[in-house]
Amino acid sequence: MLIKGALAALPGEEDFRRVDMLVAGGKIARIAEAGGIAADAEGGGGEILDAEGLMLFPGAIDPHVHFDEPGFTHREDFLHGSSEAARGGVTTVIDMPCTSLPPVTRLEALKNKLAAVSGKAVIDYAFYGGVNGLDSLEEIEAAIAELAPEVVGFKCYTVSGMETFAAVSPEQFALAYKTCASAGRPLLLHAEDPGVIRAAQAALDAARGSAPLSWKDYFASRPMAAELEACTVALRLAGPDPRWLHIVHVGTAAASALAADAGATCETCAHYLAFDEQDFERLGAALKTAPPVKEPTQKALLWRQLAEGIIAFVASDHAGAPGYEKFTGDPLTAYGGIPGTGTLFPYLLSEGLFAKRLTLKRFLEASSGAAAARYGLSGGKGSLEPGKDADFVLVDPDATTTMEPSAMFSKSVITPFAGMRLAGKIAGTFVRGSRAYATPRLAARGGAPASRGRILAAPGSGKHITWGYR
Ligand SMILES: [Zn+2]
Repeated sequence: MLIKGALAALPGEEDFRRVDMLVAGGKIARIAEAGGIAADAEGGGGEILDAEGLMLFPGAIDPHVHFDEPGFTHREDFLHGSSEAARGGVTTVIDMPCTSLPPVTRLEALKNKLAAVSGKAVIDYAFYGGVNGLDSLEEIEAAIAELAPEVVGFKCYTVSGMETFAAVSPEQFALAYKTCASAGRPLLLHAEDPGVIRAAQAALDAARGSAPLSWKDYFASRPMAAELEACTVALRLAGPDPRWLHIVHVGTAAASALAADAGATCETCAHYLAFDEQDFERLGAALKTAPPVKEPTQKALLWRQLAEGIIAFVASDHAGAPGYEKFTGDPLTAYGGIPGTGTLFPYLLSEGLFAKRLTLKRFLEASSGAAAARYGLSGGKGSLEPGKDADFVLVDPDATTTMEPSAMFSKSVITPFAGMRLAGKIAGTFVRGSRAYATPRLAARGGAPASRGRILAAPGSGKHITWGYR
């Protein structure tokens, strides 16, 4: 396939360049100035895609999703989750170990998971292994050793709402960090200090009496100080070289500053950039995530940290749930999680790149390059370069996107982004040179004309990749 005349976002460049891109055997074979590659160039197969006026980006990498399969597939599964990812320009996801059954804490569980999902995904996927607080120190060490070749990192929690996947003790964390560092895999931490949360909840209970819990109370029960304290403790336990530590879904700028300054890495999520606790009044359970969104002051600080690279990249923490689990009428029992893999890239593109909060270079790192590098995938993914997989997104910069739940492919479509208008519109998402998602303009195939985009990849066309992929 020859992509002709696209405005390409190439790694390290300050601005877009008008190019032709030749795709052969699922890889990027050549990128040249527009008009520089002949229509019958070798390996292209003769198909020409006119991309005049479209922007060409590397496929986004969403390094934090909960696709819940096998186990909690009433919330999400690989077919729906990966379809929603493709709709949103994501070509690789990394799935969390804690929200499937059994959790991915042993090789056996990973094999079981691979068997369950391999015929489902329409984009590529990697996994994290889990460090479960229910396991002994010996079990944790053995789990990391046997899972490391098959996963791109390990995940643990300082507080957990899950019965099957418990928080780690300081002793378990210190051992897990040491073992991950010697295996050469990042240890990802959900960082909220349990002591700070307990104290906040006790104070709240005392002040509230028998009054029902409000969204304001819920926010107060998970204070920003908990994130800062958990990062402080984790850095202390990790020791003098914390570079294998990665803090997930940071919403508190002081916590990311602390972690990055010490040499660890951080991600934030689109919802921490877009919303704050004042939005609970309007959105209620549709905004409930764990940890919750933060004080209004944090959004601009997080954007600046993202622009400066203090926050390395952005993930979705995609974790949807059906209405009966979300709208319980009680902020405490409402499911904490939102679907986000389909809104991540369009949001970052509009509010980051087009709104000039991020340079093109930082946008590319934040949406794909930095996560690929962090998780050992940059040999084959994460940028538009000859030799890498032809994972890319074509975007119409002159069109707009309105976030419509009815257009989403995920099982849950309860999202705080509903109704948001964004600049730019995804025209097509390609995985290893094949159309995973396309609007009618790029569909290039038969079938009834659809006004909306469709998934064109077959379930199972996505493949499992791991550290060192090329
Ligand atoms: Zn998560």
